[in-house]
Amino acid sequence: MNSSTTIASSADLMKLEDVHGAHNYHPLPVVLSRGQGAHVWDVEGKRYLDFLSAYSAVNQGHCHPHIIAALKSQADQLTLTSRAFYNDQLGPYEKYVTEFFGYDKVLPINSGVEAVETAIKLCRKWAYRVKGIQDNLARIVFARGNFHGRTLGVISASVDPSSTGDCGPFVPGFDVVPYNDLSAMEHAAQQPNVAGILIEPIQGEAGVIVPHEGYLKGIRKLCDEHNLLFIADEVQTGIARTGAMLACDHEDVRPDVLILGKALSGGVFPVSAVLADDPIMLCIKPGEHGSTFGGNPLACAVAQAALQVIKDEDLVEQAENRGKQFRQRMEELVTRSELVTLVRGKGLLNAIVINDHEESDTAWRICLAMRDLGLLAKPTHGNIIRFAPPLIISEQQIEEAAEIIEQAVNKVQ
Ligand code: PLP
Repeated sequence: MNSSTTIASSADLMKLEDVHGAHNYHPLPVVLSRGQGAHVWDVEGKRYLDFLSAYSAVNQGHCHPHIIAALKSQADQLTLTSRAFYNDQLGPYEKYVTEFFGYDKVLPINSGVEAVETAIKLCRKWAYRVKGIQDNLARIVFARGNFHGRTLGVISASVDPSSTGDCGPFVPGFDVVPYNDLSAMEHAAQQPNVAGILIEPIQGEAGVIVPHEGYLKGIRKLCDEHNLLFIADEVQTGIARTGAMLACDHEDVRPDVLILGKALSGGVFPVSAVLADDPIMLCIKPGEHGSTFGGNPLACAVAQAALQVIKDEDLVEQAENRGKQFRQRMEELVTRSELVTLVRGKGLLNAIVINDHEESDTAWRICLAMRDLGLLAKPTHGNIIRFAPPLIISEQQIEEAAEIIEQAVNKVQ
């Protein structure tokens, strides 16, 4: 199986995962072995348009040559020092990323969820050390339908039984209010000992839920009025995905704490970050937080290249234009199909809603039909299909995708 002359079939490889891997995922049956730009190929050589981009991690396209060049050249020099020592990549990257997003300081870490955990700890430290909340009483407000990852900390703010089931007891100090409901948020913000509000500016995993215009501004205002930190989880929405560098930019809102991940490395490997200004970030003192791999030289080189690609290729504008084109094509589909009731999204983070209940397998069957026709996407919440292609996707590839989606829907209909 490992010999270079024997190519394992998709069936063999899926069997291996089934037998030897934990069953914590339910992938679409397709086994990929290569990616370039907006395309991926399976082990049998069939080509697909990737309309998930590893949940918005591959914004710059698969194996972007500039990012891979940075990876290779840094890999030959130095990969990991830990933070016990300085390295020659971290400082320049920290300067670059803080100037890029306009914050005093960055705390580099690895996965998205670690960055969210970091932001939660930072908020609590700020609550005790700056705001003056009594020890162990700080509260953070979250929105219902949130997805911030899978650690025990963040699932303690989740209301999704598939995240929380049989995992208790949970971390205390979190309040959860309905998303896109400013009066519920206002009520929560007025309670004693609240230190911050942590939300996704568009809820990705919940099915691309876009709040009404003014929601983010409203949250900013509440935070200002009640001396709370506005913490934006832009792990999925950030880095050009929604047709703005940050989804918060759509409302011209600056969070106090910004959480980034996924596309920060162009999907090359886990690189995440928390950004904030000095009065907040300096609440974390030496030795109080970190990770062996956080800020490693390889990550710094890759992340800087990945952000430079976003700028050089104007992927903000590209996401905005291709997103409009895609939604227009999907809106046409809504008028023609009884099965597709709605398209929603911003930039190239979009979803269609299928006219069926959450437990139905209709969306799954549409995804299988799309796979057969050469496009990969995955349902979220049973009756919603998210579409998030790499931002480098061309006008013609969007047309091709729209045709495939319509054919797949018609086939299942
Ligand atoms: N936050 C948001 C908004 C996400 O969408 C995700 C992952 O999908 C995470 C955090 C967690 O990121 P990771 O899977 O890299 O830990």
